[in-house]
Amino acid sequence: MLNARNTRLIFVFLLVAVLFLHLENKTIISIYLLLFVAYFSILFYGSYFIQSDFFLRSLWKGSKERKAIAITFDDGPMAEFTPRLLDLLKSESVPAAFFLIGKNIEGNETLVKRMADEGHVIGNHSYSHTFWFSLNGSKTITEDLKKCDDEIFRVTGKKPKFFRPPYGVINPMVKNAIQNGNYACIGWSIRTYDTNAKSAEQLLQKALKNLSNGDIILFHDWGQFTIGILSDFIKEVRARGFEIVGVDELLKTKAYY
Ligand SMILES: [Zn+2]
Repeated sequence: MLNARNTRLIFVFLLVAVLFLHLENKTIISIYLLLFVAYFSILFYGSYFIQSDFFLRSLWKGSKERKAIAITFDDGPMAEFTPRLLDLLKSESVPAAFFLIGKNIEGNETLVKRMADEGHVIGNHSYSHTFWFSLNGSKTITEDLKKCDDEIFRVTGKKPKFFRPPYGVINPMVKNAIQNGNYACIGWSIRTYDTNAKSAEQLLQKALKNLSNGDIILFHDWGQFTIGILSDFIKEVRARGFEIVGVDELLKTKAYY
């Protein structure tokens, strides 16, 4: 399987082979460039595609045996959007998972309490969620995640076990922080790109396309059309015979310590 360790070994081998040929005068310098580009392309792919399990194994799909899926929302709590999501989930009796940004919690404690009281899973999505988050050192990332845990604990009395990396990026620094905090890293199998959707119809199609057993759907609290399609999405999912369960139930893993 292609993971960070195997890739390193393969490229070290290739580099040694090229060096050897170079000494034998049978190669040109552009092969080094080619190797360099290939290596960093694979690292880029491994960092940005959570399903690649390149640096770390994530939980991004449940069992194929059960006709069930889970819905997740990133980046909340947000006073402008989250209450409507919670109302709708409540009226449809659907459990969801909310991956919270720690700095959003202060001032939105009631929303976070509601999530916990209404049976939704709460996970860590970092405290700061800055654009360059994954380029920080392991120590800074570890502290940032701890700060988000503290905020969630302050409001709910629970310490989350689930962590979803901002932008889904995993590199060696993020991996170290995940291991330092002993988190289960939660990915997704369907990325709806709801924050970039052009229309409600397009978003609904994207979310429903290729739906299969064990899928974990990624939405965001602030997706422009997310709340608008949620009811139709839930109805269609159920019409196709799927159950919608909590991501902890889907993955058969406890969400808290
Ligand atoms: Zn996010």
